[in-house]
Amino acid sequence: MTDIPYNLLSVRTRIATACKAAGRPESSVGLLAVSKTFGASEVRRAHAAGQHAFGENYLQEALDKQAELADLPLEWHFIGPVQSNKTRSLAERFDWVHGVERLKIAQRLSDQRPAGLPALNVCVQVNVSGEASKAGCAPAEALDLCRAVAALPRLRLRGLMAIPAPAADAAERRAPFRELRELFQELRRAGLELDTISAGMSDDLEDAIAEGSTLVRVGSALFGSRPPKA
Ligand SMILES: *Cc1c(COP(=O)(O)O)cnc(C)c1O
Repeated sequence: MTDIPYNLLSVRTRIATACKAAGRPESSVGLLAVSKTFGASEVRRAHAAGQHAFGENYLQEALDKQAELADLPLEWHFIGPVQSNKTRSLAERFDWVHGVERLKIAQRLSDQRPAGLPALNVCVQVNVSGEASKAGCAPAEALDLCRAVAALPRLRLRGLMAIPAPAADAAERRAPFRELRELFQELRRAGLELDTISAGMSDDLEDAIAEGSTLVRVGSALFGSRPPKA
């Protein structure tokens, strides 16, 4: 059985070490535990070891897990691609949505966010250079999109998210994270109140933290390797 408490401790140590190297306080980087493909029992074990925020990519799997874990005070983040037909469940069942890349999706999320819940936290996904997929808005479009998203009543725009492709070379790994931070700073200078850079995963969290990430999304380093995608 995967030793989740041990893995959690070692990931937290990696985060602390990376913060120290970057001259940043440890409290400036949050840990999102990516529990996709793993079961409710793994989430429960991680929670018992002190982890509070969990990220999921697949809606139905996430809803099933949430139902099984309804007794725990967890924070749920959706980090998968957002399609129009999923926005209602996302607006009703999640605390954060990271992959917002179009205004139409943001509008639906805002319209569908229940009145009894706080505003839905969102990050706009940006396609920085070296992306693994075509997902995310172009960096040049980010300012207009972020302004429009920030104006929606039931959303709280928190920042930017990116998923750079894995790279063997450290300089190559850092470049897209730097681009993301520079864009983030540009948006803040333009007056947007952003506090989140959602970037860095199991294999590159040190590079992401060196370039300013405030929230790393870590799956396999906590829960073990996932079965390869079908
Ligand atoms: C799966 C996934 C992660 C976690 O990846 P690991 O390499 O397992 O840490 C982070 N972010 C997104 C968007 C993912 O889909």
